[in-house]
Amino acid sequence: MVMTEWEKELDELFPETQQWRRYLHQNPEPSFEEYNTRLFIAEKLREFGYEEIEENVGGGGVVAYLNGESDGPTLAFRADFDALRIQEETGLPFASQNPGVMHACGHDGHTAILLSVAKVLMNHQQALSGKVKFIFQHAEEVLPGGGKAMVDAGVLDDVDAVYGLHLRSPFEYGTVSYCSGYAMAAPDFFSIQIQGKSGHAAHPNTTVDAVVVASYVVNQLQSIISRKKDPQESGVLTFSTFKAGDGAHNIIADKALLKGTVRTFNPEVRDMIEEKIKSMAEQICAAHGATCEVSYTRGYPALYNHPKETQLIKELFEQNRTDVNVEATPLRMGGEDFAYFLQKKPGSYFFIHSGNEEKGIVYPHHHPKFDFDERALLTGAKCFVDIVDHYLGNRVSVANVSLEATGE
Ligand code: MN
Repeated sequence: MVMTEWEKELDELFPETQQWRRYLHQNPEPSFEEYNTRLFIAEKLREFGYEEIEENVGGGGVVAYLNGESDGPTLAFRADFDALRIQEETGLPFASQNPGVMHACGHDGHTAILLSVAKVLMNHQQALSGKVKFIFQHAEEVLPGGGKAMVDAGVLDDVDAVYGLHLRSPFEYGTVSYCSGYAMAAPDFFSIQIQGKSGHAAHPNTTVDAVVVASYVVNQLQSIISRKKDPQESGVLTFSTFKAGDGAHNIIADKALLKGTVRTFNPEVRDMIEEKIKSMAEQICAAHGATCEVSYTRGYPALYNHPKETQLIKELFEQNRTDVNVEATPLRMGGEDFAYFLQKKPGSYFFIHSGNEEKGIVYPHHHPKFDFDERALLTGAKCFVDIVDHYLGNRVSVANVSLEATGE
């Protein structure tokens, strides 16, 4: 098999990449509090020889530039680096040392991948026509997120195309997947506080029963998805909380609290659902003599992968990543603030499958036992350098070198 110099260097670097990942895993910091993580990233970049490093971009991001020897496009890659407020239960030797905080989404891996690419490419400036911009983003997990702040701070203003990846457990390692067009949903949140009138349970006619009114609201709002939304569009409306009453048998509740989430792709469907939740809840309550306060919070926009750039990575990976399958994946209802990057510049967000049933890596993201197969670090890094090579490169092939991953 044919392998390039860059891939060979990534293979050689793998033990160090793994160490960075494990260091980050052991020292997780929650969203908007990634102080040491930022320092670690900037320090590594300096160690690799990067001089143009911007810190605290959009609040807490770290950005570094690599200038190629000749002129050409500017290509950006983004890795997120925040952890979650979860108590880790993996029992791994490099498990979190920060109680109640865990890298349970693989952002430790994303960061290690991008660092490895930054280190290897530093040795090949002469082979690059253009610039590579490395974007390390804070706070992906908590609204309003770090992504929008970084984009608003102008991080993509000088960029021609932007790419990112996400590890995907427990989907079995050995596949890289892409999704053209809408790939991840806009995750919104709402709450409906209903106010009725309390009284004796034996005399409902003297009250406004918040339990009954809230039940109508839960039932009738189902019709937003089934009757108001175009059946060809995707959309989810889930009530996740219904709180009313105090545990008594004989008192009618005067208040009920409903909470839930809305997931959509098409902005018009999103607008319609938000408007209907408000107007229907208010009118249903009014019809029964109750009042309500509806709050609707918009999360990240839906993530849209640009078709041309997605087709490009599909072809590049099919051609170069011969040790893994390259597959299309259907859109999913989770959210991701890389959506803001793709609203600003063309690019694509793809997935490195990272589960391993044999090794017990079978837990989903945000689970206290979440982990990933570290071979995915190498696969992810190689996918990024494939993209660099396409836009800016002129890499040298090294014939007859085995493509066996060096991971355990
Ligand atoms: Mn994530």
